[in-house]
Amino acid sequence: MLDKTLGQLSQALAFGEISSVELTRLYLDRIERIDPRINAFITVDREKSLAQAEAADARRAAGEAGPLTGIPLAHKDIFCAVGWRTTCGSKMLGNFISPYDATVIERCNAAGAVILGKTNMDEFAMGSSSETSHFGPVRNPWDIGRVPGGSSGGSAAAVAARLAPAATGTDTGGSIRQPASMCGLTGIKPTYGVVSRYGMIAYASSLDQGGPMARSAEDCALLLNVMAGFDARDSTSLDRPSENYARDLEKPLDGLKIGLPREFFGKGGEGCDSGVMRCIEDALAQYRRLGAETVEVGLPRMKLAIPAYYVIAPAEASSNLSRYDGVRYGHRAPEYDDLVDMYMKTRAQGFGDEVKRRILMGTYVLSHGYYDAYYLQAQRIRRLIADDFAEAFRQCDIIMGPTSPTTAFRIGEKISDPVQMYLSDIYTIAVNLAGLPAMAIPAGFSEGLPAGLQLIGNYFSEARLLNAAHRYQRATEWHRRMPEGL
Ligand code: GLN
Repeated sequence: MLDKTLGQLSQALAFGEISSVELTRLYLDRIERIDPRINAFITVDREKSLAQAEAADARRAAGEAGPLTGIPLAHKDIFCAVGWRTTCGSKMLGNFISPYDATVIERCNAAGAVILGKTNMDEFAMGSSSETSHFGPVRNPWDIGRVPGGSSGGSAAAVAARLAPAATGTDTGGSIRQPASMCGLTGIKPTYGVVSRYGMIAYASSLDQGGPMARSAEDCALLLNVMAGFDARDSTSLDRPSENYARDLEKPLDGLKIGLPREFFGKGGEGCDSGVMRCIEDALAQYRRLGAETVEVGLPRMKLAIPAYYVIAPAEASSNLSRYDGVRYGHRAPEYDDLVDMYMKTRAQGFGDEVKRRILMGTYVLSHGYYDAYYLQAQRIRRLIADDFAEAFRQCDIIMGPTSPTTAFRIGEKISDPVQMYLSDIYTIAVNLAGLPAMAIPAGFSEGLPAGLQLIGNYFSEARLLNAAHRYQRATEWHRRMPEGL
């Protein structure tokens, strides 16, 4: 069962080879046995999951099953789910039980999927290694001395260790793609506005986007079909006709034009590790064999992406996180003198160092006298970066390159050097600034650790990205590899 794709699990459930209760129990038992070493989950609730599985079995017996009915899914602990503790990796929300469902959760539940648990993550999704979590670092199933990437590291580690068949994640600057890459998974960050952000705890609202993390493009398409769609409760949700993201999976790739940004591949290509680059070059050779051609393109303002992001994201975060004041919900300092003292102690105790750093940066760049110099300037750069992509997409269909400049690094290696940590998103962050869809897919191994190829598409080209990823996965075995010794 552990090796089955979502489609195969769905069939097994349909043919009565296994019930949802049995399947859910299988995963819950595995989590109990293996997760103490990985720390992929913050919250597991057997009773709740099994009750949902029972309901899914009943629904199937009544002939009302859809493709995801009865399939257990792990959800990043950034998605609010009724009755589930929803922490966002923070002490601030350590005791928060959500009274409502995020749209993503609501849609998965409506499809009959079972919530297997809530996955560990960097605090408020700020980080690239899942080490900033209040609940302790997540370990990479390929080498438990290493990070799984972040911020959706719990979701990635859970799927890689076969503790869940698939999971949800969110991506503000790379948090679906970078952990997918470091754990040997497939993940897609959709076009901004395709997946509702309602009930998805906000980090940087103009960049945040939810998406699936799974073992193959096919599975991602199935999940995205459920996750995506217009939602009146999110003012940035896009009202477009619903689409079947699996519709083009099998299309041949003849004539596909792949753009290779010289900024990714040039000498020193933004400091990409040579073992990772070898995997990327091999993957491109495979794409050529599949009928694609490659052209050089330019993203000249790419180097400004990290500086612009680290103005815009903290600015939005400082505003979004002002709601955690100890008054309405979440942590409140047990002792204080007056209201202001309560705010100060609550926030000093509830937030970790990285979150405080972002709040400080954000309030600074938004303050009078600095707003024009930093925030406004960053917004202008954001536009120029989007223009660069638009220009590149006049010459190609999909842009390809590495997802992350290195494979998984050691726990503790970068945590005290924020700038080094921020650089690990060098290939992913510009995509969020432009609001484009992008994927990470397994493309080989460097010294035993997975390396990921990134595919970046034009707006609303999710089906095409999934198609390009799927054809590659039909021709390769990388995505089928599983970490040993768990
Ligand atoms: N690593 C980036 C950050 O810390 C991106 C995180 C994310 O995508 N949520 O902000």
